[in-house]
Amino acid sequence: MTSKELFDRAVKVAPGGVHSPVRAFKSVGGTPVFFESAQGAYLQSVEKKKYIDFCMSFGPLLLGHRDPEVQEQVLSMVNTAWTFGACEPYSLELAEWMTSSLPWLEKVRFVSSGTEAVMSTLRVARAVTGRSKILKFEGCYHGHCDSLLVKSGSGLAGASASDSAGVSPQVAQETLVTPLDDIEALEKVFAQHHHQIAAVIVEPLPANFGLIVQKQAFLKKVAELCEKNCTLLIFDEVISGFRVDLGGMAALTGIQPDLVCYGKIIGGGFPVGCYGGKKAFMDYAAPSRRVYQAGTLSATPIGMCAGLTTLKKAVREKAWSVLKQRTESFKQQLNGLFLTHGVDFKIAHHPSLFWIHGSKMEHPASLTEIPLAHGENFKKFFHACLEEGIYLAPSGFEVSFLSLAHDQKVLDEALEKFSKALQKFKGSMKGAP
Ligand SMILES: *Cc1c(COP(=O)(O)O)cnc(C)c1O
Repeated sequence: MTSKELFDRAVKVAPGGVHSPVRAFKSVGGTPVFFESAQGAYLQSVEKKKYIDFCMSFGPLLLGHRDPEVQEQVLSMVNTAWTFGACEPYSLELAEWMTSSLPWLEKVRFVSSGTEAVMSTLRVARAVTGRSKILKFEGCYHGHCDSLLVKSGSGLAGASASDSAGVSPQVAQETLVTPLDDIEALEKVFAQHHHQIAAVIVEPLPANFGLIVQKQAFLKKVAELCEKNCTLLIFDEVISGFRVDLGGMAALTGIQPDLVCYGKIIGGGFPVGCYGGKKAFMDYAAPSRRVYQAGTLSATPIGMCAGLTTLKKAVREKAWSVLKQRTESFKQQLNGLFLTHGVDFKIAHHPSLFWIHGSKMEHPASLTEIPLAHGENFKKFFHACLEEGIYLAPSGFEVSFLSLAHDQKVLDEALEKFSKALQKFKGSMKGAP
């Protein structure tokens, strides 16, 4: 069966043929590749073609696909237990490890996705403060819970302001939105609504609409206004947590959030989300108090042990500093290739996340600095790369990732392939958008 044949079947049984929208290749066009296996930094399609993977399932695979150590622990758990719906020691181990490693986590609760983690923190914040509004930032994506599908990430880029059909106006009204990197707008919103804002939720490293690295001064101002107005500060570290550093952006910025959301890496490739923070806030969650939140498969043993094994190995291998260095030098070499081929792309990166883009600035800090026409150029670049055996995330506004499996040998091979792809692509590059 080819990818094309499989996709023709898939569209008959799933909306758009997929189970999560970006997978459908809508923004790059063409038929999505169907993969049958993965190992390390490589994917293999049903056509038996090999690809170097920079999408990495959109972030969870810090160590690469099927890291041998994680795989061994997972297989042993498969032979031990799948789910109890009862107390077990595996989630305790991960919870103790997290709370002892990260000072802003006094208590944690495991859920099954980043979306669930985010939803739960909003409920806790509303209960704690007795207020109902949530402030978010334009271009930040926080999963697909109703109230936050307002000016969110790349999967929704190009959609109208309301982003998703099916969200009631009453619910959307509870969400205030202000631009990133704009202190003045932020102060204005607080001046107007301070007594109503339960929480500010922010991706401290916005990485779902390109990579829009925020200035420390902006994040500090957010934290300061929260503190002054008794508003909870929620860091959505679903993508940045355990990715940019062991302590995520909270560690890199030195800003301690009241509540934090994790996902992606925390499950080591299995569906795990987590929210946590100060004891006084976390204890609002049932059964301690009355914020109801539950999950049949929450803290599933396989996810718990994949997550803990991943994190322990990352610490042991100094994953964060290794990846930072590798990404820095890879970026320089790739930039060199863009220059050689006269292609007007740049790379924004923050430790091991990187984004190939066509903005004027290397690190755009706000949405207005991102030329939306980049999507068109990226489309052609994406397919040129795909042909050479490089799998990037299928959208010009999604970031790419390095994993520990992307060693020098893999990266050298990738640079060769990028060079060939650029050779083909450069003729079709549209003038700077
Ligand atoms: C991926 C992501 C989410 C959603 O997590 P899911 O596991 O896909 O529900 C939420 N917030 C951020 C910042 C993310 O990157």
